[in-house]
Amino acid sequence: MDLVVKNGRLVDPARNIDAVTNLIIRNGKIQSIGSAAVSDIPVFDATGLVVTPGFLDMHVHLREPGTEEAETISTGGSAAVAGGFTAVAAMPNTKPPNDNPSITHYIVSEARRSSPARVFPVGAITKDQKGETLAEIGEMFEAGIVAISDDGKPVMDAQLFRRALEYAQMFDMPVIQHCEDLNLSRGGVMHEGVYSTRLGLKGIPAAAEETMISRDLILAQMTGSKYHVAHLSTGPAIQMVRQAKALGLRVTAEVAPHHFTLTDAAVADYDTNAKMNPPLRSTEDVEAIVKGLSDGTIDAVASDHAPHHINLKMLEFDRAPFGITGLETAVGLALTKLRLSITRLIELFSINPQKIVKVTPWGLFEGSEADLTVLDLNRSWTFDVNSSRSRSRNSPFHGWAMKGKAVATIVGGKVVYEDRG
Ligand SMILES: [Zn+2]
Ligand SMILES: [Zn+2]
Repeated sequence: MDLVVKNGRLVDPARNIDAVTNLIIRNGKIQSIGSAAVSDIPVFDATGLVVTPGFLDMHVHLREPGTEEAETISTGGSAAVAGGFTAVAAMPNTKPPNDNPSITHYIVSEARRSSPARVFPVGAITKDQKGETLAEIGEMFEAGIVAISDDGKPVMDAQLFRRALEYAQMFDMPVIQHCEDLNLSRGGVMHEGVYSTRLGLKGIPAAAEETMISRDLILAQMTGSKYHVAHLSTGPAIQMVRQAKALGLRVTAEVAPHHFTLTDAAVADYDTNAKMNPPLRSTEDVEAIVKGLSDGTIDAVASDHAPHHINLKMLEFDRAPFGITGLETAVGLALTKLRLSITRLIELFSINPQKIVKVTPWGLFEGSEADLTVLDLNRSWTFDVNSSRSRSRNSPFHGWAMKGKAVATIVGGKVVYEDRG
């Protein structure tokens, strides 16, 4: 794939690049930056747009194999590029879960066949995600996993989690924890606070997340392993991560856009699209997340894209499943709601996620895979869930007006998504 990306503002904070110039792609890789445009290959006019290293959403549920009525690797990949992501990391809680190399091989080959975005599988920590014995981690690593996680569930057994940390270290992989003490959260459907009391719904206390993180940080310190906190949602939990980083622990953390744009007040009319796990928290928690994003405590923004068939989300609040779609709204919400510099935004969406899951890096340098996200920082647009490329419709952001959008996505030198407005 050959292409000239002409006259864009090229920004790559990892390579100290911020300049309006041309970028030439040959055979799917970046051949040169800053040279005069050539005449023999197609041109992508990026005048007025920002061209960045391709965004990586490191927390996505693609639902295949097993729940293809909600999403497939193909439809999820298509939603990813429509949201500006050139790559995603796919969580293992499929049916069956990705706990052995044959499932990993399936995901890798199906992604190559049908997904416009690159897909990096995450392997399960424990067999069948039951939290009892370790999964086939070494064999899955050989097959292409980039991290391990039992996401959807935590690993409650501290001894088993210690072994997982030690084992993952042999492959220099992070262990991603869904931080939730199941004894504290049992039966809960939303954040425990004023709103849960008022609505008569059983709450999930902030402590369910915080006690698990504090245990894990002790184990991460003991083992010296790479520990990554998924979907961090409370102020005190962010403070714990901040302190652990100051102590030199190898800890990283992500937040999801719904946790910096919504509070538990969104549950007020029993909207099941406001039901997710961890739940929407308080105003103070949102403020702490925004601060953590700007001061470097939080390393990445990840959508926790969790598609569910509409029949399930139409159940009453107590019985509906947790989770919302997020691939197509993550970048718009971050650009609209966060006052971050463009370089910080690119760190959160591309540079840091690449480092955390330790993929072969891509960016604005010669020889890199030509995986690029193109942003229009001034585009005003409204999210319409009915035109989503996801197979599911469970988003609380339908009808939201946003400013700033990924308007093109380039993978391996090929324009796989373009929205010229
Ligand atoms: Zn989770
Ligand atoms: Zn998740």
